[in-house]
Amino acid sequence: MKMPSCGLCKLDHAKCTEQCEFRPFFYPDDIDSEAVYEMMKNQYIKKLIASFDNKEQKLKCIVSLKMDARTRRENPLDGNQGVISSLNQKILDLKTYIASLDEMIVELESEKNAAVELTDKLKMEKADLELAQSLDKIKIKSLESKLSELKVSLGDSLRGNDNRPSDGKV
Ligand SMILES: [Zn+2]
Repeated sequence: MKMPSCGLCKLDHAKCTEQCEFRPFFYPDDIDSEAVYEMMKNQYIKKLIASFDNKEQKLKCIVSLKMDARTRRENPLDGNQGVISSLNQKILDLKTYIASLDEMIVELESEKNAAVELTDKLKMEKADLELAQSLDKIKIKSLESKLSELKVSLGDSLRGNDNRPSDGKV
């Protein structure tokens, strides 16, 4: 059975073998192959892969190369630089936003403190008013009892001074 060419050999119309340097990194249907192929020659990619000793580094290099190629395709004018600039701008915007949130938090904290102070003050005023109210009630009660005492003694003294019968008949 014929082995399908890897992504890069296919585009280069080159013979692809099992030992192909690109094969481990560019599968036959690799969607990034074309973008990478457009960006640089297979010869250069071969050199790039060979410049790293271990497979992990080779893979890391190819992953970033694919990302570069994809970004360049999506953003032909600025490429990766454009993405970095726009991310930096987003970071700056977010920093500004965070600073404004911090300011808002400080304002809200001070408003909250003022509200707590006001609540405490109102509670104290209410307690004072309630105390004054109950004192007034006590005063009213004692005045009422004094008044009724006075009424009784007034009635007594009026009756004592009057020799005539209380029904007014002679
Ligand atoms: Zn190949």
